[in-house]
Amino acid sequence: MEELKPITFAELNLDPQILRAVEDEGYTVPTPIQAKAIPLVLAGRDIMAMAQTGTGKTAAFTLPLLQMLLPHASTSASPARHPIRALILAPTRELAIQVEESVETYSAHVPLRSTVVFGGIDIKTQKPALMKGVEVLVATPGRLLDHVESRNLQLNQVQVLILDEADRMLDMGFMPDLKRILALLPKQRQTLLFSATFSEEIKKLAQEFLRNPEVVEVARRNTTAETVKQSIYLVDQTHKHSVLADLIRSRGAAQVLVFTRTKIAAGKLARALEREGILADAIHGDKNQQERLKALDAFKEGKITALVATDVAARGLDIDDLPLVVNYELPSNAEDYVHRIGRTGRAGASGEAISLVDSAEEKMLLEIEKLLKRTFERERPEVSNAPPRSQSSRPASHSPRPISHSTTHTATPREPKKSAKDDWFDKPYEPTSNTPVIETQASLMSRKPGKPVAALLGGLGVKR
Ligand code: AMP
Repeated sequence: MEELKPITFAELNLDPQILRAVEDEGYTVPTPIQAKAIPLVLAGRDIMAMAQTGTGKTAAFTLPLLQMLLPHASTSASPARHPIRALILAPTRELAIQVEESVETYSAHVPLRSTVVFGGIDIKTQKPALMKGVEVLVATPGRLLDHVESRNLQLNQVQVLILDEADRMLDMGFMPDLKRILALLPKQRQTLLFSATFSEEIKKLAQEFLRNPEVVEVARRNTTAETVKQSIYLVDQTHKHSVLADLIRSRGAAQVLVFTRTKIAAGKLARALEREGILADAIHGDKNQQERLKALDAFKEGKITALVATDVAARGLDIDDLPLVVNYELPSNAEDYVHRIGRTGRAGASGEAISLVDSAEEKMLLEIEKLLKRTFERERPEVSNAPPRSQSSRPASHSPRPISHSTTHTATPREPKKSAKDDWFDKPYEPTSNTPVIETQASLMSRKPGKPVAALLGGLGVKR
């Protein structure tokens, strides 16, 4: 792939009022995905962009989108002057909220309106904003269709469709909803597809719904950033939590994102860490929206050290660059390893990802190695025989520092345990009518993101 020479925002042909918002945010230069995608989007091209959260992908589609909508910007109060012209679909409520916050941020100085709709809260609370009219609508697929059915909105004037984290939308079973939505949109439109990975399914989706898309990549397919040091520690399942606790303590890590495969494991692990005296919380599908956002805010503000997350719950979270990600359990889907690791080492910052691998997970590790086309060195951290949940202070021999290096896995091979099936992974993300109302849209939207602890995108001066 040819290297682009660094360009400035001013060279991207964006309106001064949009550039002003970019400056307000403290961005100095476009990120690689922005430098590549913005000119293509402005030229009216469909794009299929491979970019993970943290690459600046939201601005990569929002800035040119706002530029293209500028001729329609209007201060008129009439809803008829504000039809939905751009639709941004996101797989999760958290991502939808974050994307809409970005749209608001970047449109601060132009009279374009936006709102967000997602499931899990009373649909009626979302109606007034739609009725007033918005140019940009951010939505999760299920809730969007609910609004279509309730005739709260019309999609026949949509000029630009953006599918954000399209791979996750497919993983979460949104394909039928996507197809229904696509059937409601004008055929003449621009479509921008963003995905962290390009699976065969994603390529099929693009073939079906995009017109001659330009492929935009900022990293090679299914690769992890070279700035991330990846380690594999062979640890029996029973010792994992004490190894993790020691790891966090010995490094004095301020923020650690820990991944488990199931929500049950996430909750249990967060409680176990708390018993070890490490401030921790879990974020998964059994927690309501308010609890999830509370845990995330506490993590961002540095009030908790360890955030334990399942893959789906962590998806789309705008967690600023983290120094350390721990795979407490390997993901059953190798591509999720790439997503998890993408939480650290962003935009040139150095990061570390440590996977605690039990012999039952060897098969998953091999899958990951196959995907990444590399073989990891297996290390064995020192573990004492102390009972795994002991609350007493740990002997020095508990240090997770690896003491031996071997390239072969010596643990007795056994069949991978079938992990307790987590139904939440299979069901669509947003229950609609039967979901208790958790809080109002206004209260969710008024949440101010906490001050980030870690540096972002290589430590640029960013206000968030
Ligand atoms: P995203 O990948 O869209 O989730 O963006 C990740 C973070 O990068 C967000 O907090 C943005 O505010 C920030 N960001 C986006 N573009 C830039 C830029 N050009 N320079 C610095 N930070 C940026």
